[in-house]
Amino acid sequence: MLHGSAARPGGDRGGNRIRYCRAKGAGSLGRVPRLSEVIAALDDLWPAERAESWDAVGTVVGEPDQEVTRVLFAVDPVQETVDEAVKLGAGLLVTHHPLYLRGTTTVAASTFKGRVVHTLIKNDIALHVAHTNADTADPGVSDALAGALGLRVVRPLVPDPSDPEGRRGLGRVCELDVPLTVRELAARAAERLPATAQGVRVAGDPDAPVRTVAVSGGSGDSLFDHVRAAGVDAFLTADLRHHPASEFTAVRAPGPVALLDAAHWATEWPWCELAAAQLDEISDRHGWDLRVHVSRTVTDPWTAHMASSSAHPSPTATLPGSAARAPLDSDSSGAPN
Ligand SMILES: [Zn+2]
Repeated sequence: MLHGSAARPGGDRGGNRIRYCRAKGAGSLGRVPRLSEVIAALDDLWPAERAESWDAVGTVVGEPDQEVTRVLFAVDPVQETVDEAVKLGAGLLVTHHPLYLRGTTTVAASTFKGRVVHTLIKNDIALHVAHTNADTADPGVSDALAGALGLRVVRPLVPDPSDPEGRRGLGRVCELDVPLTVRELAARAAERLPATAQGVRVAGDPDAPVRTVAVSGGSGDSLFDHVRAAGVDAFLTADLRHHPASEFTAVRAPGPVALLDAAHWATEWPWCELAAAQLDEISDRHGWDLRVHVSRTVTDPWTAHMASSSAHPSPTATLPGSAARAPLDSDSSGAPN
C-alpha cells in the first residue's frame, strides 16, 4: 500500500494552523529594508558564534545594500526552494541546512550546488543559513517541533552551559497535559507534522503510556544517552538507524523508552513557521515593508512508502519479544509498520 506521496505542508488541513504568507497588504507604506538590516536581525536571533564548530552558518550569497521586500524560509537550499524564491520575487532565502558545509573549488552551474548559486545570483536573491545556532536557540528548532505536537516544553534535553538561564540547548524535554499511548502520540505526530512518504515509525510497545517525551528536530540518535538520563517515556526525532535504535530499545532499565522516528525534513519544517513569525515581529517593530513567507515545497528526499504486506509470513512472529515490537495498525494513515 502506498502511504501518500509527498504532499504539501498543511495542504489538507484547511490552512487554519499553518500560515503561508504574512503579507501586510498591498497598501503598506513601511520602509523597504536593506539586506544588511535583515541579516543583522537574523544574526540577533541566531548568533553565528553559537553554531557548532563544524557548522557553516551565515550569509552564503548576497549584496548587503540590496533592498529586500520578500523573504522566504525553507529547510533546504535546493533548486526547488530557490525556484520557489524566484517565482515569489523574494530577495532573501533563509534556510536551516547549509548549502556548503565543507569547502569547494567550484560553483560551476553544471554542479547541483553551483546551479543553486547561479540561480540565486542571477535573480538577485540572497541566501542565509541558520543551522545549529537555530537548533540551540530559545526558541529554537525543537521548540517549534514541540509546539507543532502540542507538547509543553520543560527544559532543554542538552542544556547549553553558556546560558545561565538554562533555556538554550539541543532538544527539549516535554510533558503532555493528558497522557497518550505511544500509538496515539505517533498518530498525532503523523497528523500534525507536514505530510511525508515516511510518516512516523515506532520502536517499542505501541500501548505503553507516555507522560514525558524528549524531542529533537533532525538527526537525533547521538542524543540517546541524554534521553535515557532524562527519564522520559518516549523520544521523537529523525534519521534513527538500525543498530543504535536496536541497542537503545533493548535496554529497559530504569524503564523502556519508545522511539518515534519522523522524516528529518518534517521535524525541522515547523521551525520555518516559528522563524518567519519572529522576523515578521521584528519587521513590524522596525516599520519595514517586508513580506515573510514559508516554503510549502516538500524537500524530503523520500517520495513513496510501501508498507509490508500483511499476507506475507512475518518472521517477527517467531521472535522472542515480538509482542512488544508489534507493528501499529496497518490501516492508520501514515503510520509505520
Ligand atoms: Zn536538519
